[in-house]
Amino acid sequence: MKTKINEIFSSIQGEGPVVGYKQLFIRFCKCNLNCNYCDTEFQTGVEYSEEDLYRKITSEYDLKTFHSISLTGGEPLLSVEFLKMFLPLVKNDVQIYLETNATLFNEIAEIKDYIDIISADIKLKSSTGFDSFELHRKFFEKSKGVKTFAKIVFDENITDDEIAKCVDLAKEFNLELVLQPKMIGDKMAVTSEFCTKILDVFTQKYKNTRLIPQVHKFLNVI
Ligand code: SF4
Repeated sequence: MKTKINEIFSSIQGEGPVVGYKQLFIRFCKCNLNCNYCDTEFQTGVEYSEEDLYRKITSEYDLKTFHSISLTGGEPLLSVEFLKMFLPLVKNDVQIYLETNATLFNEIAEIKDYIDIISADIKLKSSTGFDSFELHRKFFEKSKGVKTFAKIVFDENITDDEIAKCVDLAKEFNLELVLQPKMIGDKMAVTSEFCTKILDVFTQKYKNTRLIPQVHKFLNVI
């Protein structure tokens, strides 16, 4: 089984509650969504078998020095058949952290036993052009039992209805919510005042909500 990997690199996690930890990032090619804020180049890559990828990361990096491997993209769950072969190889060496758009619910069910932490996006229609809340609900249902938080990238187009649906999901699945202001380059697309206002609106409805901007852009690392 082979899959295309866009890049492999060591860096510092810049998003969500594990911000600041050193991770080995494995970026998968392809995505099933087309978010209007996507700034990731993930189309091109090199094909690896699961053994080749395991050999490469263990020969070039000391996995003991990493908090976790971040499976990122694109959308890693599009490579679920590959992950079913790769994750058993690496699981005993290091924690596995999955960054996903949380829409591929059948796929997460197939590999969740190998995942330690899920960073799951809740996508807003104002960003993606379609309502994905039902897909997210199925995803959170299938990923029960794995430590999971939900990240919401927002800008000034976020609506009251979207906020209410995010809070409903968070309550139903007991999720920590992480609000992440959309970035344009290394600048926030919204003002600090707007961030504070949105955090207030969320916390009035659901206390377990934090606002964390993309810290790696301030650190000027990938
Ligand atoms: S889900 Fe992620 S990788 Fe895919 S288009 Fe949206 S931001 Fe980009």
